[in-house]
Amino acid sequence: MKKLGFETRAVHSGREDLAGLGVHAPPIDLSTTYPVGSMGGIGECFDALAQGGPLRDNPIYARLHNPTVVRFEKALAALEGAEEAVAFGSGMAALTAVLLAARQGGKHVVACRPVYGGTDHLLDSGLLGVEVTWTHPHHVSKALRPDTALVVVETPANPTLALIDVARVVAQAGEVPVLVDSTFATPVLQNPLALGASLVLHSATKFLGGHGDVMGGVVATNAVWAARLRQVRIATGGVLHPEAGYMLHRGLATLPVRVRESQRGAMFLAQRLASHPAVLRTWYPGLAGCDPEGLIGRQMRGPGCLLSFEVVGGAKAAAQVMERVELLTPAVSLGSVDSLIQHPASLTHRVVDEKHREASGICAGMLRVSVGLESPEDLWADLQRALEGVQVLGPEVGEGSEKNRRPSGDAVWVG
Ligand SMILES: *Cc1c(COP(=O)(O)O)cnc(C)c1O
Repeated sequence: MKKLGFETRAVHSGREDLAGLGVHAPPIDLSTTYPVGSMGGIGECFDALAQGGPLRDNPIYARLHNPTVVRFEKALAALEGAEEAVAFGSGMAALTAVLLAARQGGKHVVACRPVYGGTDHLLDSGLLGVEVTWTHPHHVSKALRPDTALVVVETPANPTLALIDVARVVAQAGEVPVLVDSTFATPVLQNPLALGASLVLHSATKFLGGHGDVMGGVVATNAVWAARLRQVRIATGGVLHPEAGYMLHRGLATLPVRVRESQRGAMFLAQRLASHPAVLRTWYPGLAGCDPEGLIGRQMRGPGCLLSFEVVGGAKAAAQVMERVELLTPAVSLGSVDSLIQHPASLTHRVVDEKHREASGICAGMLRVSVGLESPEDLWADLQRALEGVQVLGPEVGEGSEKNRRPSGDAVWVG
């Protein structure tokens, strides 16, 4: 069959068996256990699943396999151009499974800051026995060791929206598999596997679900890695609930429309914020200077739906903006139909050491906005009103004169 368009795959993938079942919406299978018809062959069925292999005929137990979740996995794999996908109860459960599965290749991981605060913490804390070397994306090859099992990058990065050239990182990594956290881009805007990455991870809690009401994580990859990940998932239990699987699958159908429309709003807001007197700096890959390596058009199909900006007056002023907005919701998370604003230094990246935070460009006055589907004009009116309060506060001594002291988009990395 000829390859279907992205939007068509978003609507129809993972639904291939529905007509045969005589239903239009995917059934939600809530069984935790499945009656064993005959004992003949059930052992082999169990072993195949436990080794991360495919379903023979009986799912046996819900930690081993769930048909509703499998439909979501198939659909996501189709959108990423992956052989398979494996879903988990959250993005962090998905990352944990990748790190545990990678341990076969060694305990060393190379990673590039900034990444999501939880990812930073999981890698840096050594909780899973992982040893991490943080490096600049251009210096990945120098950081490799004989026991390096994985390279971890996030692009666009949370919360600075810095872009990393995935193909370049893959070339530097050589034989070492590269994991790309593509949560901010979604499969609508980039497909890291096509650039040579081995694994692409999404916090499905964000855009894939898209309505702020379901938590999940998913990894799209090849069949070998997928089997390893299922093995880990069965052993450690980080499964996605079937109702969540249903909701995430449903979310995929509108994903392209939601992302493109939110992106339109993000572009509108980024341009206005960039010229607002109370804003020192705006980070958005669609602004001039924010994509120094020219990755939009080459790696990404658009600049996305998130932006960050630095307000005059540091953390205090940022807190005031969060308290003054009425339409935007002051809350962590992202990728919902409604717009959210949050303060990375004290919330999502609180767990990251202050010196690492500052060095990777996460300053005290930074606010991150996830743009939803509201009228961009209404969002701008809300932000403008909130920023007026900041101007009343006035800049901190010496800060006002430094407006635009850094060209927007000069990615600051931990070397
Ligand atoms: C939220 C997020 C995660 C973690 O996902 P959860 O579903 O919250 O566990 C990982 N990476 C990025 C980029 C995120 O934004």
